Formats: sequence, structure tokens, C-alpha cells
Amino acid sequence: MEHRNPLPPHLLIFPLPLQGPVNNMFKLAELLCLAGVNVTFLLTDHIHRRLSIYANIHSRFRRYPGFQIATIADGLPADHPRDGNQFIEIFDSLKSPESKAVFRDLLCGYDGGIRGPVTCVIADGILGFALDVANDVGIPVVSTRTVSPACLWIFFCLPKLIQSQEIPFPGNDLDELIKNVPGTETFLRRRDLPGFCRAGDISDPNVRLYETEGQINSRARGLILNTFEELDGSILSQIRTVCPNLYPIGPLHAHLKTKLLAGETPATASPAASSSLWQEDRSCIAWLDKQPLRSVIYVSFGSIATLTKDQLMEFWYGLVNSGQKFLWVIRPDSVAGKDWESQAPAELTQGTKERGYIVGWAPQEEVLAHSAVGGFLTHNGWNSTLESVYEGVPMICWPYFLDQQVNSRFVEAVYRLGLDMKDTCDRVTIERIVRELMEVRKDEFLQEAKKMGELAKRSILEGGSSYTSFERLVSDIKTWSPRS
Ligand code: UDP
Repeated sequence: MEHRNPLPPHLLIFPLPLQGPVNNMFKLAELLCLAGVNVTFLLTDHIHRRLSIYANIHSRFRRYPGFQIATIADGLPADHPRDGNQFIEIFDSLKSPESKAVFRDLLCGYDGGIRGPVTCVIADGILGFALDVANDVGIPVVSTRTVSPACLWIFFCLPKLIQSQEIPFPGNDLDELIKNVPGTETFLRRRDLPGFCRAGDISDPNVRLYETEGQINSRARGLILNTFEELDGSILSQIRTVCPNLYPIGPLHAHLKTKLLAGETPATASPAASSSLWQEDRSCIAWLDKQPLRSVIYVSFGSIATLTKDQLMEFWYGLVNSGQKFLWVIRPDSVAGKDWESQAPAELTQGTKERGYIVGWAPQEEVLAHSAVGGFLTHNGWNSTLESVYEGVPMICWPYFLDQQVNSRFVEAVYRLGLDMKDTCDRVTIERIVRELMEVRKDEFLQEAKKMGELAKRSILEGGSSYTSFERLVSDIKTWSPRS
């Protein structure tokens, strides 16, 4: 009998055209390439140009012959800034009839070269038009979201929150509990909802954008999430009431790293693709090497959050007055006003010289894995949160926007891995909370964080929950592919 080798499935991955989601989807793409799936990765021209300048994507993926990048115009004028704040404009332009037509042509009129035609689409769950086009032309589609599952669940509940008039809420009492997000009734307060819910206006473009999430995602065959069952089991069971077929495959950064290391000899092993937009200052690792076990609090507010000069000073006093050692990332563009360093009072520069270290950008995953680090003062971006969970580092939470407000509440009230100081920023509170995490309740938090870190590590090893979910995803993609 003649044996023909069927072509592997050919996936088209369409991430949200923003730095964070694109980075995450590259990790997913690489995992799928390692599993032998062909991948076309669809980027807007703008993101493609930036990545070609700053990241090592092309050299990174050269080793996967089944991988290619395709581009699509986002329809915005060349001088549009396209940053996260203008996201709604990017999104509106992208879902124009012209872009839809281009996307349809990509799916249907394209033979895929050596990869054959596209057999499955993975698209960000907010790109409803992409899901609709794929469904129209009969190509199976799986959605994915890179925000935290807890925040996604709140998005799913937005219609109910609006209908029950829980948002917009009257008055200023931010501590009132929310009743219409099932599973969170005992702990989720108004202040823990995504920031735009405080706007007092349901015609806010963010509300408009996110309130259709539940409907959109339920039109896909499944939903891929960056988390693991042991961390987010209770919220995942709520999300399953809307999208029954979930693939929780996180923490994605560690899942990929583990698979890369497993497939390579130590001599050829290389880390995952670089996604840094700033030069990493590795001198902080040498500084950490000289510090005692679990003695340092690492401070970083991610790649987007900004601080006023007053906020910077409050954090600085709080950290110095806490008497703890600290490693602080102050991104070059993150503080309003350039003169903060030269204007710092002598007691702060002295305190920093004795116990602190400041860099512009750190190799964060390596920092969190360092044995000298005993706590993380974070803005709770979902990547930073998962990286901290994975390394067993307790957190102090100072959220900036969107899912961070929700994540910080979950860190304190659900995961029990830290303390939430949202909506405060004064030196006395900061000093107190740093001491509480690093001294008073240090052992308790470290123990809990260690336990969760171990569960995270187990989840991505053979037989673990995220490992198994990923295997199921690959097997489903193969089953849906007409060639296999
Ligand atoms: N990061 C880093 N070095 C730094 C600060 C942050 O490498 O000095 C990385 C961090 O490891 C994480 C990402 O930047 O992967 C930040 O993503 P997150 O979702 O936490 O926050 P965002 O930047 O999107 O607000």
C-alpha cells in the first residue's frame, strides 16, 4: 500500500497588533512549530517594521522552515502613533471592509506555498471580524486572549454589570462589593474592576469594545489562555459556562523555555526570542549575587506604566525608609520630567548607595529567579504576575491600568501571594507594606509563593495540566485539518 506523508496542519496566527500580545503569540507560535505545525504569523506592517528593527524574530524562527510572517495594512496614516492609548483607533481601522477583504483573500485565495492552504486560524478573541471571516469561509478558528482570565471573565460579565446598573456606579464608594461577576461576589470591589469601569459612562469606547467579548469568543471552537488550572481553576470554570473548550497552557514563557531546553543539548540551548525594547542592564545580576538569600525587593512597573515625579519620590522614600534592600527598574521614559535623579535629596541617594540598585531595564525573568530576591513590587501586568508566580516570589501590587486592577485583587484575595496597595501612593504606606512583605509576614508569603511556583512548574511538565492542554490543542488542530 502506498503511504503518502500528509502535510502538517497550516495555522494562521493573528495577534492583536500591540507589543504585549504579539510577544505572547510568538511564544505560542514557537511552541506550535516545535510540535511540527506550519505557522503563518500575520502582523500589521507597522508592528512588522518595529520588530525587524528591535527584536530577533527573523533569526529566531529561521530554524523552523514551516514558519513564515505575512503582513496586513492596518489602514492608519503613516504618522499615527499607534500606541496602546490609541488602541481603539487601530482596532476600528483594522476591522474596516477593506481589511476584512484582505484577510478573506489571505485565507481563501492563498495556496500557502510549501505549507499548503490554511487549515486553522488562531486569532485574538477581540478581533471578532477575523473570527467571522474564518467561520464564513469554513476554516476552524480558535481564539486566544493575553489578558488575565479573571479580567476576561469581567469582560464577559460587562453586559450583565451594565444591565443590573452596577456600572456605571453612583457615588464614590469604591469598596462596595460587585454582585454580578459570578464566583467573585465575596471579594471583588468596585475598585478592582478594570479602570475604565470607573469612567461613569457606558458609552466609553473601552466598554463598547469589551462588552462583546463573551459573544465573540463563544463563536470559536476553543479559547487559549495564558494560565494554569491550579492557579485559576475557579475562574476557568466560570469562563467554561460561556466557552466550554478552554486550553489553559501557561505560564507560556516557562512552557516554551522548558520545551526548548528539553529539545536541545546544553551547547545549543538558547533562550526564547528577545522581546526587549530597551537594553538590559545585566550589572544588576552581579549586584544580586552579593546580597543575602531572599533579602531584596525587586521593583518594576513594566513597559508602559509611567510615574509622576511626586509618585517616584514617594516610592523612593518608602523603599529607603523600609530599611530593605531593593533593586529598582526606572525605565528611561517612565518618569515625567528628566531631572529626578539630579534633584534627589541626599538621604535618598545615600540610602540607595547603601541598600539599593537602580537600572533602566532588567533581565526580569532572571532577576525573579535569583535567590536573593524575596519580593516583587509590581504593576501586575499579566506577564510580570505569571513570571513572579512561577518563580515563587510574593508580590506587592500597585496596578496601573486594565487587567492590572483585577490581577492585584486576585494576588491578595484569591492566590494569597501578596498585598494589594492600589489607589495609594504615599511613603508611609509604602514603607509599612514593604516591611510587612519582607519582614513581618515574610515566611508565610514565601511559603505560599513557593507552593504555587511548584504547581506552576509541574503544570508544564509531561502529564501536567498545561502540558496536557497543549497536547490536546495540537491534536485538535490536527483533527480539524482536512489533510491529516
Ligand atoms: N520586563 C523586563 N525587564 C524589565 C521590566 C519588564 O524584561 O526591566 C518584561 C517582563 O519580564 C514582562 C514584560 O516586560 O515579560 C512586561 O509585561 P507585563 O505584561 O508584565 O506588563 P506591561 O509591560 O505589558 O505593562
